[in-house]
Amino acid sequence: PASTTAPRAAVTRLANGTIPATVGADLLVPLADGRVTDYANFDHGASAPCLESVRASVEAALPSYASVHRGNGYASRITTQWYERARVEVHSFVGARADDQVIFTRQTTDALNLLAHAVPADATVIVFESEHHAALLPWGEERTVRLAAPASASAAVTAVADALRSAPEGPRLVVVTGASNVTGEIFPIAELAAVAKAHGARICLDAAQLAPHRVVDIAELDVDWVALSGHKLYAPYGAGALIGRADWLDAADPYLYGGGATTSVTGDGVVWATGPSRHEGGSPNVIGAIALASACATISRNRDAIEQHERSLLARLRTGLAQIADVTTYSIFGAEADRVGTVCFTIKGLSSTLVSAALSAEYGIGVRDGKFCAHPLVGHLLADAPEHGTAVRASLGLGTTREHVDRLVGAVRSLATNGL
Ligand code: PLP
Repeated sequence: PASTTAPRAAVTRLANGTIPATVGADLLVPLADGRVTDYANFDHGASAPCLESVRASVEAALPSYASVHRGNGYASRITTQWYERARVEVHSFVGARADDQVIFTRQTTDALNLLAHAVPADATVIVFESEHHAALLPWGEERTVRLAAPASASAAVTAVADALRSAPEGPRLVVVTGASNVTGEIFPIAELAAVAKAHGARICLDAAQLAPHRVVDIAELDVDWVALSGHKLYAPYGAGALIGRADWLDAADPYLYGGGATTSVTGDGVVWATGPSRHEGGSPNVIGAIALASACATISRNRDAIEQHERSLLARLRTGLAQIADVTTYSIFGAEADRVGTVCFTIKGLSSTLVSAALSAEYGIGVRDGKFCAHPLVGHLLADAPEHGTAVRASLGLGTTREHVDRLVGAVRSLATNGL
């Protein structure tokens, strides 16, 4: 099921090189409720809707799934093949090296906690305060060096180089987000990886926000691990992955003690498995893995068209918001940074919570308001606007249309001009 193809019409249209007003609406499972078909979803950064190809893959697997790596019946053997094929698909989705492991997890948070569990005890972990809490918090207070949100891409590289120079002897790990979940800005991953390597350090990329929108290539970027979430990649909840180097993972205690993680258990002791099964104790989420892999396959096939379309929608959105007095958009690196389709803004004098409620109730637009599980970063961005404790985030994706963007810009203009 992992190789189920996208609907023919979409593939043909994309292959012809025409970029229609909407890329992806026909790749998505249609909204079941006819009353909300013109819902403008600007909350892809939280979770993305399900792809039609993912639904087809899951539906194909549901009637005959069985235990994975446990049964010798026909259904078990086929299901085991699906599961392992899903692993191969995810491996290829991130351009992993031949000896990189793919460990299925629940989501990015789980993947990063798994890596934190495997980081050697004497390691130092270097991380920017601008990270999502999932990348900021798992490493343990004592061994974490937290760097201030960088003012530019080059300042990020310099800050990491300085931190590595002054870090104590022993293993070092740099943790960096691919794209900020608050501003969408893309961090200089290859440059940070080069600095890490120059200082003998490892680097982990939190690709939760980047992978749905841009190619992530572990080998080309020269990063050691990548973490991602299926539900941000147009698959349902419950499956993500940690992909990368085996050594720290094989040396660590199993993440979950239990069946599947062992090669033998006797009165003399336990021999734990190496490889992905070491950290995948218990019966795995095979349907989740199939869904994730199917999403990876569809996104890979449509990558260029998706990226081009999202870039043009983002430019339209940013230009539209920039023309509205009393709207402030926020940025870590400044206007020139490359970014995925996420914009963070406030409207002068208006509560972000009420703005997002009004966008939903009056315009059928779904956004998020708050601090986006990145409290230090939002505090930093809003330092000059203390009256706003929180901001609004609009994040576009597959299925977002020009009409959605125009509706959002028009609604924000109306709220900024006329109030709530
Ligand atoms: N990292 C980033 C950059 C995110 O945006 C998110 C979720 O928003 C996470 C990690 C955590 O993802 P999950 O909730 O799927 O574990």
